Amino acid sequence: MKSYRKELWFNIPTRRAFINITSEVNECLRESGIKEGLVLVNAMHITASVFINDDESGLHHDYEVWLEKLAPHEPVTQYKHNRTGEDNGDAHLKRQVMGREVVAAVTNGKLDFGPWEQIFYGEFDGRRRKRVLVKIIGE
Ligand code: ZN
Repeated sequence: MKSYRKELWFNIPTRRAFINITSEVNECLRESGIKEGLVLVNAMHITASVFINDDESGLHHDYEVWLEKLAPHEPVTQYKHNRTGEDNGDAHLKRQVMGREVVAAVTNGKLDFGPWEQIFYGEFDGRRRKRVLVKIIGE
């Protein structure tokens, strides 16, 4: 069995963003040489997500509005977590909703995706360097 590991680094200039990382993951898959197996892609930070959905700007706007309703950033004093001196209590909650990781099948050297599936990095407390882990196993 072959094994491949890579860290993708991000430094998002805004507090929140959704970034399509499918091409980066495809590049990892190509580098790995693995034709049949599984790819795991996970955020290595507890205020960021990796998820699969449609690359459609209206949907991404809807996520932003929905997540702000669920866990508004302001007022930051509403979160006990922020008593630690941080202001990212909302970001921890948003990350929990959008998820930590995705696992995708690799078939014939390609991500075995449905027609609209794309992999996204979801940032909820940006403006600093953060990592995503890509682990691919198979043969
Ligand atoms: Zn925090």
